[in-house]
Amino acid sequence: MTETCKPNLAGLSLSKLQSLFVEAGEKPFRAGQVMKWIHQRGVLDIDLMTDISKDLREKLKSTTQISLPKILQDFESHDGSHKWIVQVASGSSVEMVFIPEAGRGTLCISSQAGCSLDCTFCATGKQGFNSNLTVAEIIGQLWWANSKLGCFDGTTERRVSNVVMMGMGEPLLNFDNVMDALSIMMEDCAYGLSKRKVTISTSGVVPAIDRLKDYTDASLAISLHAPNDELRSSIMPINKKYPIAELIRSVKGYMASLPDKRVPVIEYTMIAGVNDHRQHARDLAELLVQLPCKINLIPFNPFSLSDYKRPSDSSISNFRQILQKAGYIVTVRTTRGDDIGAACGQLVGDVNDQTRRSSRHRQNAANRKVFGSTDNLAVSADRV
Ligand code: SF4
Repeated sequence: MTETCKPNLAGLSLSKLQSLFVEAGEKPFRAGQVMKWIHQRGVLDIDLMTDISKDLREKLKSTTQISLPKILQDFESHDGSHKWIVQVASGSSVEMVFIPEAGRGTLCISSQAGCSLDCTFCATGKQGFNSNLTVAEIIGQLWWANSKLGCFDGTTERRVSNVVMMGMGEPLLNFDNVMDALSIMMEDCAYGLSKRKVTISTSGVVPAIDRLKDYTDASLAISLHAPNDELRSSIMPINKKYPIAELIRSVKGYMASLPDKRVPVIEYTMIAGVNDHRQHARDLAELLVQLPCKINLIPFNPFSLSDYKRPSDSSISNFRQILQKAGYIVTVRTTRGDDIGAACGQLVGDVNDQTRRSSRHRQNAANRKVFGSTDNLAVSADRV
């Protein structure tokens, strides 16, 4: 068996690992032992798994592998955030970010190299798309964060308390691999994270949200970013396929399937002059009456291929107040790690784009520099 054909123990969920042992004539509890070595103790060398017999270790060495993505670079922000560049098998690299806060540490994980959805405010979308990450490449990001933060040596308490699937890519377009990775995150013999502390953030792939309840009970965040279909479709092309009413219906269905009373988080990136008007806030408040939720406002974080601007502090404050007066719990995301390009919406990695999108966006940006913003030209023409 060549290395590439061998099952990768680091990327198998508990049930798949149990099946592997049973098929090999071994007891299923071996799966839990192996998971503890890899995901709780950080051990990747089968020879060091000393509660497994020598014969079984030899068998595992010849028939399986343990393989994780490589860390290419490690950046630390002045605010304590980390960004790691992770190389995946397709040859692209993706980014993950760790944000420490009082009482918790959040790891933002990527699910795809690039993204096919091309939201206009997102740096990843401008990179085009290369590949879905494997389960080992997704869970490997959590493994590496624990390793880099010194959590495998038994002396440091767990620093990654929360995981958000909010890095590069649309997680629900890599459904099977993301579901397996989530199950490893929440498995007691692996990372043991609570379902409340693992969040899938989606732009609204409605058919995937509809079947989510059969696979996981993780928390949900919805990238909404606009209070009506016309505006949302103009900044998030996926809305043309799955408009807001369908999305809300689907999210309500998933939330109703959960046994506890959790609500989704509605993510709203505020872009100056695009979706940050007071009327947008009033429309958003009216739209969300039908969906119990929390709202997270994310002031736009600029990046080189975008002309969008961050709204003023007073716009953000006014927007927030309108929503709060309407009875919503509203948070404003503090920008973290922008000195290392780790802020929300800024993740880019190095994607071997299989679409023509990245070169098109680069060309458009270059044209804007030479000729000035095409938007401004349009406005000028109207005035003439
Ligand atoms: S916001 Fe999410 S779904 Fe949209 S382009 Fe960026 S990574 Fe893709």
